[in-house]
Amino acid sequence: MRRLRKVKIVATLGPASNDYAMIRALFEAGADVFRLNMSHGTQDDIRARHTIIRQVEADLGRPIAILADLQGPKLRCATFANGEEELVVGQPFRLDLDDTEGDKTRVRLPHPEIFAALEPGASLLINDGKIRLRVDTCGADFADCTVMVGGIISNRKGVNVPDVVLPVAALSEKDRSDLEFACELGVDWLALSFVQRASDVTEARDLAKGRAAILSKIEKPAAVKAFDEILAVSDGIMVARGDLGVELPVQNVPPIQKRLIRRTRAAAKPVIVATQMLESMIESPVPTRAEVSDVATAIYEGADAIMLSAESAAGQFPIEAVTTMNNVAIEVESDPTYKEVIDSSRRIKHTSIADGIVSAAREIAETTDVVAICCFTQRGTTASLVARERPHVPIIALTNIESAARRLCLTWGTHCVMVSEVDRFKSAVIHAVRAALKYGFAVETDMIVVTAGVPFNQPGTTNILRVAPCAEYLIKQTEPE
Ligand code: ATP
Ligand code: MG
Ligand code: MG
Repeated sequence: MRRLRKVKIVATLGPASNDYAMIRALFEAGADVFRLNMSHGTQDDIRARHTIIRQVEADLGRPIAILADLQGPKLRCATFANGEEELVVGQPFRLDLDDTEGDKTRVRLPHPEIFAALEPGASLLINDGKIRLRVDTCGADFADCTVMVGGIISNRKGVNVPDVVLPVAALSEKDRSDLEFACELGVDWLALSFVQRASDVTEARDLAKGRAAILSKIEKPAAVKAFDEILAVSDGIMVARGDLGVELPVQNVPPIQKRLIRRTRAAAKPVIVATQMLESMIESPVPTRAEVSDVATAIYEGADAIMLSAESAAGQFPIEAVTTMNNVAIEVESDPTYKEVIDSSRRIKHTSIADGIVSAAREIAETTDVVAICCFTQRGTTASLVARERPHVPIIALTNIESAARRLCLTWGTHCVMVSEVDRFKSAVIHAVRAALKYGFAVETDMIVVTAGVPFNQPGTTNILRVAPCAEYLIKQTEPE
């Protein structure tokens, strides 16, 4: 099974996508990465979904990445006796520390530090800014508000207080426990919410100890300001537009999205565009034209991945949402303008031998009939460098390290294949040819480019490039490798 597009699709799992049949169907429709939001599921829920994803992976024989999203210092209300309530403009609504479940008049907001920092007149925004409350009076354990913009409020919706600076730690006790749990379970990526500074990332990195790659969600003005330092210590970036568009004026989001995509690509790290991409598909089997255009824009901008949140987690049409993204991606990527845009945004400083080799691989692929670039990679670094070049042919990343194959599921254009350990370049080329044929990237009369590092099994040594006619290496299949 191979994808016919370069951009990757991340699908958040939730009540609408819990069981084996649905998760497998989402993968088959095009989801490359599954996101488990630790804000919503319990550790037992997360474990159950993790087991199912690994089962799908084993049954289909293709690596799948699992991204665990830590809640971070995101403020959330508690739960409601009825699961949800409708708030009407002008009605009073109280937030407090009382641990009985919420109703039409009040809900628990389990963050004493907010009550300490609130002042009358402040705005509280709920559910990515959809509901707005104004604080009338407040004390150490309550805030009496008036509903300024109404809507449905439901369990554990996010709360933003843009006017107030909150002194909160990057990782709560829950986050530390979730981080350890997720690493032990074996997730591939950890997403950090509400990162404000580079040290928030290094703190999580120290706890993860290499067991998972670290993705920073950019959703605070402070993170936008400190972006370069945050990027330097992260393995990937998410443009988390939901909270970003609440914390900053919403019109600031598109230019920030463009800038973050460019800078992250320049660092050869994956970047996800997230939130509200196909929001109307939560309730409708067809998207709005504006949503299709938004998905297309992220792809034209060169994002590594596009993400579904509630559409796949809690919506009525999870498969249709993945299929829509897949179809939009195939169409955009076959547009000649896409090629022009991607080529004109390739501003890469080559500073290493590996940079030079992957750049040469792309140029060869573009000036000759080569059909794929195959790279041997151990930590995934070389594959990421090839992806940064955004070549027009598919990238096949060959690795003997399962965690590298899974992490690369988030990286643009990369088809990961597990191979046994190789120790000679000739056998590496044979493996590459076989993979290219097996997954339908090449036929016997085609040529592929193969890059590798010799000696093998020393990460970071890519130093060889071979243009290989497939037929030649197929004949050698019968000879000793
Ligand atoms: P974040 O800011 O981390 O994106 P979020 O609350 O926006 O948090 P998403 O993961 O983006 O959550 O999902 C969007 C919505 O889908 C949630 O607000 C929630 O209503 C629903 N949802 C997602 N995952 C779950 C889950 N595991 N259980 C219940 N509902 C879920
Ligand atoms: Mg968010
Ligand atoms: Mg969200």
